[in-house]
Amino acid sequence: MKKKMLVAAMLTALFASAADYDVIVAGGGPAGIGAAYTAATRGAKTLLLEKGGRLGGMAVSAMVSPFSFATDSSAVREIAKRVGFGGSVDFHLADVRAYDLLREAGADVMLHAHVLGPVMEGSRVVGVRVQCVEGERTFRSKVVIDATGNGIVAAAAGVPYEEGRKSDGLVQPMSIMFTVGGFNPAKRFICVSEEHARSRRCIVNGRKWEDIVQDEIKAGNLPPEVGVIRLYPGRAKNLNVVNATQVNGLYGSRSADLTKAEIAARKQAAQIVDVMRRHLPGYENARIAEMPAVVGVRETRRFEGVDRLTTEDVLSGRKREDAVARKCSFVIDIHNPAGAGQADGHDKAVTGGARRVKPYDIPYGALVPKKVDGLLFCGRCISATHEALASCRVMGNAMATGIGAGAAAAEAVKKGIDVRAVDARNLGLFDAPAK
Ligand SMILES: Cc1cc2nc3c(=O)[nH]c(=O)nc-3n(C[C@H](O)[C@H](O)[C@H](O)COP(=O)(O)OP(=O)(O)OC[C@H]3O[C@@H](n4cnc5c(N)ncnc54)[C@H](O)[C@@H]3O)c2cc1C
Repeated sequence: MKKKMLVAAMLTALFASAADYDVIVAGGGPAGIGAAYTAATRGAKTLLLEKGGRLGGMAVSAMVSPFSFATDSSAVREIAKRVGFGGSVDFHLADVRAYDLLREAGADVMLHAHVLGPVMEGSRVVGVRVQCVEGERTFRSKVVIDATGNGIVAAAAGVPYEEGRKSDGLVQPMSIMFTVGGFNPAKRFICVSEEHARSRRCIVNGRKWEDIVQDEIKAGNLPPEVGVIRLYPGRAKNLNVVNATQVNGLYGSRSADLTKAEIAARKQAAQIVDVMRRHLPGYENARIAEMPAVVGVRETRRFEGVDRLTTEDVLSGRKREDAVARKCSFVIDIHNPAGAGQADGHDKAVTGGARRVKPYDIPYGALVPKKVDGLLFCGRCISATHEALASCRVMGNAMATGIGAGAAAAEAVKKGIDVRAVDARNLGLFDAPAK
């Protein structure tokens, strides 16, 4: 072990001389923001590369809201508050605030910088190739953190991964979330879940909201995958965030599938608003207020780490000595990969179809690839089972894993060791010791 660590330290020192940065973070979503902010505040020379024109990932570009904290982390709360992620996401300015936060911390940020893959030396990642607008560029670093959601760097570096559920390889559906305005704010209608839609709290003109939507499906006015139309409160009283569109059988890791999903889900959005206008009192003149830049992707690659978050871990509330996220509590929320509602086999009696978990920890080992050095992953592509990811993918947890990755990368740089040799127990990620 000692010999291995010595070799790792020598290699790191060798590459250090040629590095442009200590830490490069690929992807500027909740995980990437957490990673770059933490690495920079801990003294690492850090660069964040984002392929789009806005930071924030799904929260901004796909208008995903609310930001679910679901983890016990004051660092997540602080960043989320400063960026405008708290509760209902501020789609309009969260990206600008995230940029200011990162710059204040000392990180460099480059937008419109599409990471193509790693620069490899043997089994070590020593930088990334980036498609910039001016042409292809290479940036070298001591550590690369893959926060692209799809694991663009990790996949190209050859880290093995799984995609989809065990039985048939299908992934969770993609969705367009959008906002609706133009209704009477005094009559704003809220329906947050399947359970809510079928309860007495969601009655419209004497009928359950779920029954109205089901009748519209039977009449051919909505596709069957739209099992329920969820209307969340928007940031202003005259806005709803709508979470209802659903496209099955397509993969967010393939451009051709993404193209189909973008178009199909946006067409569904128009159909959904039509149903709202015809049934909801005060919504006669409702219209789409804001459409996101990209379709929302819930699940793609899950990489093989030195450790893995398993289904049993989340159901039993397993605690970890090397935790990077603690007391994670979001339900196992598997939007049905093959139809409407929650996936088959999930207890429909609980929380509208999703299975409760016992507060569990995410281990550092789930961010460390098994065979490749100089690389960490965080956010929604960590090492986890399909079911475990359905719980840990929410934005608070994604950011917590980013913070863990950023802290570990800074520690590795400071000590001149590889990220796999970092002892996560000493990263000081939490205010108090584990109970
Ligand atoms: C429809 C839907 C509803 C959801 N509902 C909720 C909810 O209610 N609450 C909740 O907390 N979470 C929810 N989620 C989950 C949550 O949004 C994601 O799991 C979370 O955003 C993952 O964060 P991330 O940073 O890992 O990835 P992302 O948010 O996907 O960010 C990845 C970033 O990397 C960038 N990127 C990708 N490839 C490259 C590249 N090659 N080069 C450079 N940059 C790149 C992307 O542009 C993006 O900015 C929902 C997701 C969806 C799709």
